[in-house]
Amino acid sequence: METILYSRRMTDLSQYTLSNETGICLLDCEVAFNSLTDKEQCYSHYISQASFSGGLIVLLQTSPESPGIFVLLQRVFRAQSISDLETVATQNGLTKEEFQAVLMYAAGFYCNMGNYKSFGDSKFIPNLPKEKMAKLILNSAAAAADPGGIQSLWNSVQSPMYSLEARDKELGLGEKGTTTYFSQNCDKRDGEIAQEFMNKMDLSPYNTRLFKTEDKSTSLPVYEIRLASVETAASGDIPGVKTENGLGEHQFTPADVAGPITFKVTRGDYSPLLKRVADNLNSAKEYAATENEVRMLEEYARSFTTGSLPAHKDGSRFWIKNRGPIVETYIGFIESYRDPYGVRGEFEGFAAVVNKKMSAKFASLVESAEHLLALLPWPVEYEKDKFLRPDFTSLDVLSFGGSGIPAGINIPNYDDIRQNEGFKNVSLGNVLTSGYKDTKITFLDDDDKELYIKLKLPSFEVQVGLHELLGHGSGKLFIKDEDGKFNFDQDNVKHTETEEKISSWYLPGETWDSKFSSVGSSYEECRAECVGLYLCLSSDVLKIFGHVGDSADDIIYINWLNMARAGLLALEFYSPETGAWRQAHMQARFCILRVMLEADEDFISITKTTGEDGKPDIRIKLDRTKITKVGKPAIGKYLRKLQVYKSTADVEEGKKMYDFYSDVNDNAKPHFLSLRETVLARKQPRKMFVQHHTTIQDGKVTLKNYEANSAGLIQSFVDRFSSPELDSEILALRDKDRPHF
Ligand code: ZN
Repeated sequence: METILYSRRMTDLSQYTLSNETGICLLDCEVAFNSLTDKEQCYSHYISQASFSGGLIVLLQTSPESPGIFVLLQRVFRAQSISDLETVATQNGLTKEEFQAVLMYAAGFYCNMGNYKSFGDSKFIPNLPKEKMAKLILNSAAAAADPGGIQSLWNSVQSPMYSLEARDKELGLGEKGTTTYFSQNCDKRDGEIAQEFMNKMDLSPYNTRLFKTEDKSTSLPVYEIRLASVETAASGDIPGVKTENGLGEHQFTPADVAGPITFKVTRGDYSPLLKRVADNLNSAKEYAATENEVRMLEEYARSFTTGSLPAHKDGSRFWIKNRGPIVETYIGFIESYRDPYGVRGEFEGFAAVVNKKMSAKFASLVESAEHLLALLPWPVEYEKDKFLRPDFTSLDVLSFGGSGIPAGINIPNYDDIRQNEGFKNVSLGNVLTSGYKDTKITFLDDDDKELYIKLKLPSFEVQVGLHELLGHGSGKLFIKDEDGKFNFDQDNVKHTETEEKISSWYLPGETWDSKFSSVGSSYEECRAECVGLYLCLSSDVLKIFGHVGDSADDIIYINWLNMARAGLLALEFYSPETGAWRQAHMQARFCILRVMLEADEDFISITKTTGEDGKPDIRIKLDRTKITKVGKPAIGKYLRKLQVYKSTADVEEGKKMYDFYSDVNDNAKPHFLSLRETVLARKQPRKMFVQHHTTIQDGKVTLKNYEANSAGLIQSFVDRFSSPELDSEILALRDKDRPHF
């Protein structure tokens, strides 16, 4: 009994630590950066500064302890070199592996901008005993210089840094996990009430957090909706928001609740950090390439200064019009994956340089977009009235501030702008090329492995291109506006599944995110992934990317095989304890695998085997002769349903179907829960990126490179955030939040 418990605990721990073997690679942008003019380099420098300082906001959006851990790490690594610190470690009885574990923890913390994985939302703790971590920190040069300060920082973080209590293991709302988008006393119901209020007031949740307190005299809840802004004054207007809907106290009676509830709309969240963002955006203006770019930066700065989401939407409008820039950027509270309620945006910002050769391929894909959209498995009425040809470029990332770096982006996320004005796509080329090199390939046969290694990158390029452009870029939302007018022909458009007239739609104030809420992110990723799978079968698409004949067939095969395998690997991101998925894209891929399995008994096979190491293993195989006959119609049918429920705002049917395919159980073969054990035992750590650092002097920008290892990654953060004032700003923000957690 004892040993079983022990080994169980050991397995458990390995899920919550970072392996010393985690791959770290340089996000190389040197060639692209050197091709820029001095002016463009200055522009990219200030945008990078804005992005990185804004990225620190994620500390406050992740966990109560993240800000303190960040400052502690900064102070320790700033005070002495890593080799000096290693001497301290040895003197204090840490083994070499334990010291490496400290470095890996710090590197992982910096990359994720907090102690929860940006990809998977699970917590990670240092992989060495707490006592040894304490010894190292309290004997470091930082502690020698300021014993009281370091001791008190350590005291404030040591317990939460190591805690793996049920609620601490994952991000989540209420009893389900940790979040700092909500005060600790909130649950899903509070999210719903706040959403109802914000819909009514026409306030967007993207740049907000929700804190609940209690009115002692009435025992009723009081909600604070805190807007992110530099300005902290409790009164004044928010640009683009009606005065009566803005700052101050509001009484609101939600449906099914007795009596009015007090809402307070306040501002000043992350104030000092947003000041750094706005200042750098203003400095960048001087080096902007066009007047349009200047206006774009002004609107962003206005949004961050005043807390106005409408100003950010205006900035995004200028951004869409800024087509084909040499240096690209987007910045703000963008993706809602990590708000457990699915509507609040996490801060991210980037500067990237266009890669002309790859961009030419994407431009031809955009040229063919209308023709390709017609191939999708839904009637033309479900497509936007006019496809707003987006800019689609391949970029090499110079700097990405936030919790993690995606491989492609399709933004803005504002539905009204996307539907009527357009959007842009970017594929982050150097993320794909550096991140996907030489990963160990699990669960495939040897002959598949060879082809997979050869074609994974080119097939993924096709998939990312289709996913972003024609996946997220396709489909129409059916809307009834304030005047009762429909944006579709209500008499003639038929529901694709019931053949009846359309009977549901979006009402004023409702958006895809607000309607589909927590299921929305993954559902939409699933739709985009299905579009990629479905359209990669088109020879026109493959030709654009330079694949014809047998090589084109191989690309299709590897793309489908990769999706099926990803669906299996996805099990790592499912928590049986809570029944929750922790990563939107991986949940999406699991659903797709289920659809493939359901299509035909022999299309996909998943078998339990024994590996060369004698331990349980898995083989996944896909019958490539059945992709067109079996795979395509199955994915097509599923994709059409995803679209019709999305178009018609039918959250009930949509969620029902999505929950069905997301369900992980052992009821039938292939017994996913037991496969999950093997997937976990053989999982490969996700790679981390070291980014460049830029400095400016007399109008000349210098680009600094780092070694691709944990020490290099840590050094880049020490260089990037060298100011002690920044430490105080972060700690002050933490202290302001403290009563709520
Ligand atoms: Zn996507």
